[in-house]
Amino acid sequence: MPVERVEGFRSGRTAEEGEEELERGLLLTTIDRAVGWARKQSMWPVTFGLACCAIELMAAGAGDYDLSRWGMEVFRASPRQADLMIVAGRVSQKMAPVLRTIYDQMPEPKWVISMGVCASAGGMFTNYAVVQGVDTIVPVDIYVPGCPPKPEMLMYGILRLHEQVRTEGSFK
Ligand code: SF4
Repeated sequence: MPVERVEGFRSGRTAEEGEEELERGLLLTTIDRAVGWARKQSMWPVTFGLACCAIELMAAGAGDYDLSRWGMEVFRASPRQADLMIVAGRVSQKMAPVLRTIYDQMPEPKWVISMGVCASAGGMFTNYAVVQGVDTIVPVDIYVPGCPPKPEMLMYGILRLHEQVRTEGSFK
């Protein structure tokens, strides 16, 4: 099984002694780091697409980009089985309470990615019918800019979130 080299790994030993431990198949870490690592390795997004950005989201999950490399290809149909909401597209005022309900039904800990300028700030829809930033409805962890963001941009956002989850500690 490949060993993941974790940046900031602290074992109280020198780098050489740490390498020696790894070669012996032994790795010392803290509960916090182990929990953060497990959480980032087992993130499941809820099925939730709102507009054109969702096409790029679907492309990210398909063969060419392949979210399954991070075990994330199964978009859950139930919010109770998901811990990541990717808000892909503009959020209408009518959809806002539905979005909040779905978020509330997701178990803790949970994270939100705002995908595209419409979700993050209303985009071109500067009118009364569209929410001018989904962070007024749910807490957002990562903003992915663009209209639409390419799958690579979303994947970069996911990697940044993984890094955040790995290092934020187990008591979010
Ligand atoms: S950011 Fe662009 S692609 Fe995404 S929902 Fe808005 S208009 Fe559509």
